[in-house]
Amino acid sequence: MSFIHSIKFKFTLWYLAVLGIALAAPSVGAYYYLSNTLYQSLDDSLELRATQISNIREALSSVAEGQFQEELGEVVYFYFYAEDQLLYLAPRDISVPVSSEMVEQAITGQSTFATVETSEGVELRVFATPFTPSETIMVPAAAGDMPSPPAPRVNIESAALVVGRPTEGIKQALDRLLHTLMIAVPVTLAAAGGGGVFLVRRALKPVDEITQKARSIEERDLSQRIEVKTRDELGRLASTLNDMIARLEKAFGRQRQFTSDASHELRTPLAVIEAESTLTLQRKRTVAEYRQSLTTIAQEAARMSLIIDQLLSLARADSEKGSPSFEAVSLGELLGELSSDLEVLCRNKGLELELAQMDDSVVKGDRLGLRVLFMNLLDNAIKYTPSGGKISVSARPEGEMVVVSVSDTGSGIPAADLPHIFERFYRVDKARSRAEGSSGLGLSIAQHIAEMHGGRIEVESELDKGSTFRVWLPLAGEV
Ligand code: ADP
Repeated sequence: MSFIHSIKFKFTLWYLAVLGIALAAPSVGAYYYLSNTLYQSLDDSLELRATQISNIREALSSVAEGQFQEELGEVVYFYFYAEDQLLYLAPRDISVPVSSEMVEQAITGQSTFATVETSEGVELRVFATPFTPSETIMVPAAAGDMPSPPAPRVNIESAALVVGRPTEGIKQALDRLLHTLMIAVPVTLAAAGGGGVFLVRRALKPVDEITQKARSIEERDLSQRIEVKTRDELGRLASTLNDMIARLEKAFGRQRQFTSDASHELRTPLAVIEAESTLTLQRKRTVAEYRQSLTTIAQEAARMSLIIDQLLSLARADSEKGSPSFEAVSLGELLGELSSDLEVLCRNKGLELELAQMDDSVVKGDRLGLRVLFMNLLDNAIKYTPSGGKISVSARPEGEMVVVSVSDTGSGIPAADLPHIFERFYRVDKARSRAEGSSGLGLSIAQHIAEMHGGRIEVESELDKGSTFRVWLPLAGEV
């Protein structure tokens, strides 16, 4: 996986973007705040200076006589009209491009600020404000020229006072701040980015380990587990994967067991058929011997066909979760039919078959499947109950379910075997049940069918006393 497609990259990118915004926003804010404050204080100082100059007695004549003292870097101008001409007085000879509009506004009584550049290229912040002279002065030649004394003294009624100061100090301070930010922000981002990559790499290292380990665990070696080192989210991920691998291991194990059991089950009757036919064909036989042989072969073929039928119905049950062909099935009717079918079998074996409490419960289900389910339970009860015993069938509703019980007074099941009897091919007494033509699949088929109907099977059994199988099925309307 390339770095660009990794979480590390995306995480670092996001982290840097957020951090970049978090750093840039206050930096820009600080820059503008400082700039505003500095320019505001410059404007305030210009206003203050203008008031000071306005308060100087005979300010105009002291400028005209060259006695006015400007402060360092300061520019002071007086503009006024004399004989319809706009003239100016300045203590120093520098040209300041103050707009005539600004001057006119000041003469007519309106103060304004502006930023201008002198002919020497110095940036100035200028303030133009109305000025009322209280003296007569010598009039200079014309605006733009230096005063050319001697000249007649005139009385000026209104003038404009323009005070300017260089912005260089402010610009320098702002430039310094800008340089500091331009270096500090990228350096901080680079350091944070490096740190971020390091931290993410550290935090995600266990994910790489888990991925590698999970990749190395193959179907054949599902016994391996991922090491759970922490109790955090990654620890939980590792435990969840381990649980999944454990379930897979179990499922594969069950499948392997099933395959070997199934082939074993099919191989036995095949071996019998092979041996029987080979033996019979070795020499000439009487008709009775041939009949005997063929009967054995037919029996074994029937066993194989039964096993294959059962395997097929299990495979179908495995693939069809929730059959669509469900219909309303009356349990009383179904169990009644089954009992009368099995009546003869019971009588032959000297067993009493009783339909005890029978409720007219209706379930939604596959009629044929339910028939197979109860047939398997009743068949077992008949098989494992000795002559003189009793089999009792009952059905009663319990809440939203119906419970069908099949009890017998038969051999019972040892406690150690009880947890396994629903497993495929599991038989308590292997030799005996084989001889009785059983495959060990009946109960697992029954359980599958019950589960397919949203129900379950429970068993209670006591050795030599009997067994009770209870089938829980949801009543119609609940499926
Ligand atoms: P089988 O075809 O061998 O009967 P099942 O899956 O139906 O296979 O049953 C599994 C095993 O459970 C049987 O081999 C038997 O030992 C035991 N078993 C099932 N039902 C009963 C019962 N009613 N009484 C005693 N043992 C039973």
